[in-house]
Amino acid sequence: DGDRRGATAVAQRLLSRPAHALGCAGEVVLVGAGPGDPELLTLKALRALQDADVILHDRLVSNGVLEFARRDAVKICVGKSSGRASTPQDSINAALIAHARQGKRVVRLKGGDPFVFGRGGEELEALAHAGVRASVIPGITAALGAAAYAGIPLTHRSHAHGVTFVTAHDGGAEPDWRTLALPGHTVVFYMGLARIEHIAASLIAHGAPPARPAALIAQGTAPTQRVITATLRTIAAESARVGPISPALLLVGDVVSLQSKLDWLHNGAGAALSASA
Ligand code: SAH
Repeated sequence: DGDRRGATAVAQRLLSRPAHALGCAGEVVLVGAGPGDPELLTLKALRALQDADVILHDRLVSNGVLEFARRDAVKICVGKSSGRASTPQDSINAALIAHARQGKRVVRLKGGDPFVFGRGGEELEALAHAGVRASVIPGITAALGAAAYAGIPLTHRSHAHGVTFVTAHDGGAEPDWRTLALPGHTVVFYMGLARIEHIAASLIAHGAPPARPAALIAQGTAPTQRVITATLRTIAAESARVGPISPALLLVGDVVSLQSKLDWLHNGAGAALSASA
């Protein structure tokens, strides 16, 4: 309205406020990338990817998902893979905080879901501690994606009234084998490929029948998905015969016996997923 002095005063007041008070401070979004098939991303994840200035992603995130990012976005792989060097968690946290403090929109892109064996909790804690704005977008965790594409319902009124996701990583403590061996229940082991023999033997030692069905699903939901079905007694030998294909999940429970009937991807009903067939 021609009030130059008033306008100058307003501008100076705005300039003297810290960036975050103006809402232009950076932020970090922890995004679940799903298990592999890029079409399993949520719409929210897609939007966050298209908005991101910087993307720090795991090795498990598929190229198809990364292609949704802006061409000019900076993509940094902070991948972890068993046996190989990875970026230490503290450096990942520090990088997230540093990029956000530069005013960037940062996406921390994780395979599957950020809160399922994804250290999302630790990263969110570090961001809160640093006063960085953060949010979480869930993703389809590997167990859900791989079981669906393999045709193994994780619960079923006649076979399983519950499902447990457990990590079999050798760094952690031993799980409660007696509970995991109970009937009428499905157990999905993440990070268990290297310990498959130990897992099967422990379940049997704690009361599971050796004939209980078990499946190994490797590269779930990707066009290269492999499903090996066997029993607790034979699954280690069967998977050794194929050789290590990672990432892979071990599923144990009577629901695995439905796979041959419900394998929609290979039984003809999978036409809609021609890329994966
Ligand atoms: N946050 C991830 C899990 C990370 S832990 C999620 O929610 O899915 C990594 C483990 O996940 C792997 O060792 C493997 O057991 C499993 N995994 C991840 N992607 C997979 C896939 N596409 N197929 C089979 N297993 C997968």
